[in-house]
Amino acid sequence: MAAAFERRWVDELAKTLFAPLLLGRSKPSGWRVLSWDAEQGLCLTLARGARCISIEIERRNPELACFDRTERFNVCARRSFDASSALDEPERRIVTAVVRLIRRRERLLPSVERSGATRLAVVRKISVQRVLMPEGPGHYYLNPYVGCTIGCEFCYAAERADFSRELEGLPRLAWGRWVDVKDDAPELLRRELKEQVPGIVRLSPIITDPYQPIERRFRVTRRCLEALLEAGYTPCILTRAARVLEDLPLLRRFERAAVGFSIPTADDAVRRAFEPGADPIAERLDALARCHAAGLSTFAVVQPALPGDPEELAARVAPIVRAVRVDRMHLAERADGLWAAFGVGAGERQQTIERTEQAVSAAFAARGVPRLDLDDLSSLFDESPQT
Ligand code: SF4
Repeated sequence: MAAAFERRWVDELAKTLFAPLLLGRSKPSGWRVLSWDAEQGLCLTLARGARCISIEIERRNPELACFDRTERFNVCARRSFDASSALDEPERRIVTAVVRLIRRRERLLPSVERSGATRLAVVRKISVQRVLMPEGPGHYYLNPYVGCTIGCEFCYAAERADFSRELEGLPRLAWGRWVDVKDDAPELLRRELKEQVPGIVRLSPIITDPYQPIERRFRVTRRCLEALLEAGYTPCILTRAARVLEDLPLLRRFERAAVGFSIPTADDAVRRAFEPGADPIAERLDALARCHAAGLSTFAVVQPALPGDPEELAARVAPIVRAVRVDRMHLAERADGLWAAFGVGAGERQQTIERTEQAVSAAFAARGVPRLDLDDLSSLFDESPQT
């Protein structure tokens, strides 16, 4: 296990690519850069008033749908707080202008010959220049780590995080075998919080789990929570790990705090197959119940909905959450062998995935549990009584 302290160069690459926008030299039709990120490919959020557009730059792949393609990248775009609506014509023009900028500047990025893996580099301490990411009015996210040693095979973040490593010229390592630790993030966060308006801060949206095993060693999540508490912000944690209970006394000191658990099935045999590195379902349910009993706002994310009894899942989860998010497995081909092990062949997989999602959604709806919009978490803190 190595723990050298390294500068993360992919941040510099993002700054090079977006420089005219970041320096304010280019302000397309009044839109401004709300934030940028380099942890899941290169991402840019543009804002004008309450309207936000998220632009994501991925590895070029002619087989995948996207807004447009450049020589090196697929460029995707969506409205941040209204993903269901297509971009309107003025918004498409803004994104087209950004694509033109990327085309002009992508040659400034080094063409990195990627090395093979030379070590099982599990831990890398990194120094970052930004931690708190604004993503829309009153909403932020922060990732205390990048990478995740829980290592679920279906994890959507894996490919994007790998792309960021590739841009940086880092060796390819299997997902679940590496984690970047933002050890100095809490100090930086304290400074950033002073420059923003207090709001809801998600830990962590997708690229890591804030309570993966290494949190016990580095406590980056805990130290970030302490900074949020001092500055009057509201944390919203999403995890698969019962270790969050170790921070329960701290979370109770917030005026408002939310804790959600990813619970994709009630069947622990299925969990063991699909999420072998994650905590057993019973432990997650127990931890969720304890957060609920402690007065925190609690929610569940059934994503991806996995095989199992939807009625049992909803019956166990509904009494201890105020909202639920249900979604299917995307990129299911990555977990091909696992579906086959549960008797679901490639031909029927998509249908099974859709049926499972619908059945779980119906089971929660029948129990009156509201759907959670992960883009707008303010409903978690409405004054209406909890379910
Ligand atoms: S716990 Fe979350 S971030 Fe970690 S591998 Fe699983 S899905 Fe990905």
